Amino acid sequence: MKKRIILSSGNAHKVKEIKGILKDLPFEVVSKNDLGYEDFDVEEDGSTLEENALKKAEELHKLTKGIVIADDTGLYVDAIKGEPGVYSARYAGEDATYADNNKKLLNKLRNVPMEKRTAYFKTVIAIVFEDGSKMTVEGICKGHIASQERGNRGFGYDPLFVPEGNDKSFAEMSEEEKNKISHRSNALKHLRIKLEEALEDFGNQ
Ligand code: IMP
Repeated sequence: MKKRIILSSGNAHKVKEIKGILKDLPFEVVSKNDLGYEDFDVEEDGSTLEENALKKAEELHKLTKGIVIADDTGLYVDAIKGEPGVYSARYAGEDATYADNNKKLLNKLRNVPMEKRTAYFKTVIAIVFEDGSKMTVEGICKGHIASQERGNRGFGYDPLFVPEGNDKSFAEMSEEEKNKISHRSNALKHLRIKLEEALEDFGNQ
């Protein structure tokens, strides 16, 4: 029988991407919304992505007792000591929009020359198994911050982030192009390896 994995996210894009990458493994992937936990939310008050991802996964595991996956992502810009980092979602304030955050970032970097605008996205995915054991995996994508917003696809800092070896920003790429190289897909590839190992363990129990 297929084991079920519960995603501690209701974000349709994330859910689709995760389902895609795990599709040929013997897991049924469902989102928290599929199980009626639309209102489930935790305060992301950790000082690292790991803490936040683990907190989200553990809290939902307590409610469901199932295998739960949660992620947390940040953008780290070298010239400003890794800002916005773990505060990426609320860089310009608690209710900041993506546009507010991008504006603040551009402003902070206004005197920084192109060669010093290096940055990377990092995604941490936490998984909690049925017995409560847990682990995290991570994925990064290196690049630089453009001098102005470019493109209208994607979300968040996508219009400002140009991945290494590319001329286009994430927001100028198709979803498929972005997913091939993104921090989240790199983390998911690592997760897939861990799940394959876990399947072997399940088989040996
Ligand atoms: P979350 O942990 O996925 O909710 O991400 C936290 C914040 O990081 C989001 O609010 C976005 O501002 C930013 N972010 C996360 N993933 C991406 C991405 O793939 N592109 C651009 N911005 C992202």
